[in-house]
Amino acid sequence: MIDLKAAIRTIPDYPKPGVMFRDVTTLIGDPRAFRIAIDQMVQPWAGAKIDQVAGTEARGFILGGAVAHQLSVGFVPVRKKGKLPWRTLSEEYELEYGTDTIEIHSDAVREGDRVLLVDDLIATGGTAEASIKLLQRAGATVVGATFIIDLPELGGAKRIEALGVPVSSLVSYE
Ligand code: 5GP
Repeated sequence: MIDLKAAIRTIPDYPKPGVMFRDVTTLIGDPRAFRIAIDQMVQPWAGAKIDQVAGTEARGFILGGAVAHQLSVGFVPVRKKGKLPWRTLSEEYELEYGTDTIEIHSDAVREGDRVLLVDDLIATGGTAEASIKLLQRAGATVVGATFIIDLPELGGAKRIEALGVPVSSLVSYE
C-alpha cells in the first residue's frame, strides 16, 4: 500500500516563519499517489448520489476535477473574487489577518443538487465553511466535504461537521 504522507512534501517557514506548509504538488505529480488519493477521496461517498463536485481555488480544482470525473458528474469552481465571468454569489470569510472573498456563478447548481466539496487541506475550516454557505445559498445540499489533509488541532473538520456536513480526509498532521 502506498504511503500518501510520504508523497506530501513539508516546507518549513512557508509562507511565513513558523508555518509548516504541506505541499501536495509532489503527491499529484506522483502517478500512483495521485490515483490512490483520488480513489480514497471518492470511496466514503460511494452511493451518496452526488450530483456535482465543487472545488476551491486552486488545488481544489485539480483534485475536484479528478473526483468529479471519477463520479461522472459536473464540476463547480469556487473562485477568488473577480475571476468568474458571469453573475456571481459572493461570500466573505475571516483570515488570520483580514478577510477574503470567494464566488460561484449564481447558476452553478440546480435547486436541490447534492454537492460534494473538495479541497487539498482543511485547517481552520474557514474556506470550507464559506464554500458551503455559498453552495447552500445557490440552492445546493452539501452532502459532504473531502480533503487529502486534515490539521485536527485547528478544528476545521469539527467546525464543518457542526454545520451538519460530514468530513472525510486521508492523512492528518498534529
Ligand atoms: P482554512 O480555511 O481551513 O484555515 O485553510 C484551508 C485553505 O488554505 C485551503 O484552501 C488550503 O488549500 C489552504 N492551505 C492552508 N494551509 C495549507 C498548507 O499547509 N498546505 C496546503 N497545500 N494548503 C494550505
